[in-house]
Amino acid sequence: MKFAVLAGAFGRMESTSKRTELTAFLVDLLRETPPESVATITYLIQGKLRPDFEGVELGVAEKLAARAIAKSAGVPASAVADRFKSGGDLGDAAAGVLDSRAQTTFAAEEITVDRVYETLLRIARASGARSQEMKARYISSLLNDATPDEARYIVKLLLGTMRLGVAENTMLDALAISFAGGKEARPELERAYNVSSDLGRVASAAAAGGAEAARGFEIRMYSPVRPMLAERVRDPSGAEPRLGAEFAAEFKLDGERVQIHAGGERVAIFSRRLEDVASYYPDIIEMVPPRIGGREAILEAEAVAVNEETGAFLPFQELMHRRRKHGVAGAVTKYPVSVNLFDVLYVDGRSLLCEPYSARREILEGMVDADQRVRCVQAARTGGAGLDDLMEDAFNAGAEGLMLKKLDSTYQAGSRGSNWLKLKREYRDDLADSLDLVVVGAFFGRGRRTGMYGTLLLATNDAPTGTLTSVCKVGTGFTDADLDSLYQMLSPDARARRDRRVVSGMEADVWFDPSLVIEVAASEVTLSPTHKAGMDAVRKGYGFALRFPKFTGRIRDDKSPEQASTNEELEALYAGQNKAARA
Ligand code: ATP
Repeated sequence: MKFAVLAGAFGRMESTSKRTELTAFLVDLLRETPPESVATITYLIQGKLRPDFEGVELGVAEKLAARAIAKSAGVPASAVADRFKSGGDLGDAAAGVLDSRAQTTFAAEEITVDRVYETLLRIARASGARSQEMKARYISSLLNDATPDEARYIVKLLLGTMRLGVAENTMLDALAISFAGGKEARPELERAYNVSSDLGRVASAAAAGGAEAARGFEIRMYSPVRPMLAERVRDPSGAEPRLGAEFAAEFKLDGERVQIHAGGERVAIFSRRLEDVASYYPDIIEMVPPRIGGREAILEAEAVAVNEETGAFLPFQELMHRRRKHGVAGAVTKYPVSVNLFDVLYVDGRSLLCEPYSARREILEGMVDADQRVRCVQAARTGGAGLDDLMEDAFNAGAEGLMLKKLDSTYQAGSRGSNWLKLKREYRDDLADSLDLVVVGAFFGRGRRTGMYGTLLLATNDAPTGTLTSVCKVGTGFTDADLDSLYQMLSPDARARRDRRVVSGMEADVWFDPSLVIEVAASEVTLSPTHKAGMDAVRKGYGFALRFPKFTGRIRDDKSPEQASTNEELEALYAGQNKAARA
């Protein structure tokens, strides 16, 4: 397939923000794509080369790409830099400078999707002393043969700045329409995606065998399962109506969720975002296999920092010492972790996803030979009346609350539903609710905050549309050190224009490529005409906003923007607080 076809489709997709139109463009493209290239195209549309859990990153710096562009166009580096400065996008700058070359020297061979993809993969995998030089050479080889329009997208892919705004849901719709007989088949494709976390693999299977092939997707080792998530309840009275008279209450520990794939061959560990985090946890790799008798299993656990002498849980911050690129070995001995298992999804060739919670828990307890560092999360069977006491026990043990689980519920990969409920300290202490929000923009600070971002514009994830909708500005709760590190983290992502996925009635001083998620506590959810979260859900022309939002000090590295709090959650909080006010 010619890359020009793909570049043309990218251009059309960029030109629309309407989901139906975007889906139609995708369907046209997918139908035109030979089945063997469908996976490749699916990754490229998402600006990726492989599924996230494989950790294949291009990591091409702007400078390197700019140099290669200048060389291919036969212009001085300053010409590329000038265009980049005025337009803000290096892909567009590349198209601009190559356009002037096109009239004079352009007589190159046509490039194909496969060639671009293979070359990008080579660039991503280049390592070692000469890797920069190699990368520059690969880039030039592509750009020498590329038309200006092709170059635009090659550069965006290289830098990771492809922003077509295609949410996973839109992609699944398009795949269902193209290959599985229509949108009705989407749940089957979605299930396949939830058990594999690999949209390219799902796409390729659907292209070859339609919905039937998607139905055949099974959980497999080293392919992470998208996590089942919990709904929040404000107080214990919310439990029984959803879970029945008897349910399980487990300690909700405050650490990092890890999905452990322990097999004979190797141990893989995936974070809540399904990134490979094995390098941070060499001790987990060593500790787990002997405790499960060397079985092959996919387990879910909360990794929590512990005091090695007493076995007591330590706060979340202690665990963050592990999240560093260098010196992990030192952190492993200085900040030991415990592995607190709470689910088993697969064991010795058998998927347990369709087993009820009670059976999975029994299997888990039966297979773990527990010790101080690897054990099952404390669990009890209870009804609503027992919750206050259990909550007390949980707090005394250093947990942040309880997870309440329906006994007959299967494992619902990739969904947040009412079969798991989280009950946190907030209801007890009458503390504010906390939400995980995406930083989408900022306003420059004044006074002591001059030269930094004084206030951040935050957004929720509107899951059905794949947009990020603004919900509040936050300027309190930041220490000077927080402001400094937030500036360091955010400024490389600063842009003059709003990202296409962001919906807001506010004009920020700078906008960001959405990637950072922070935790914010707020005293109340209110209605606002300016913010766009949950627009029209309660009152026409009004969205939700947060009253007195405050940064809690916690950056949610473990969450991507798609995993931030949703408008549905806000709506539930709004309804809950109004009910409480009336009571
Ligand atoms: P939160 O912001 O409350 O940590 P979250 O959005 O990260 O939640 P939720 O599904 O809402 O994810 O809450 C469940 C999280 O709580 C899990 O992702 C996991 O990290 C953690 N957790 C701690 N203990 C348990 C447990 N016993 N069972 C399931 N999850 C647990």
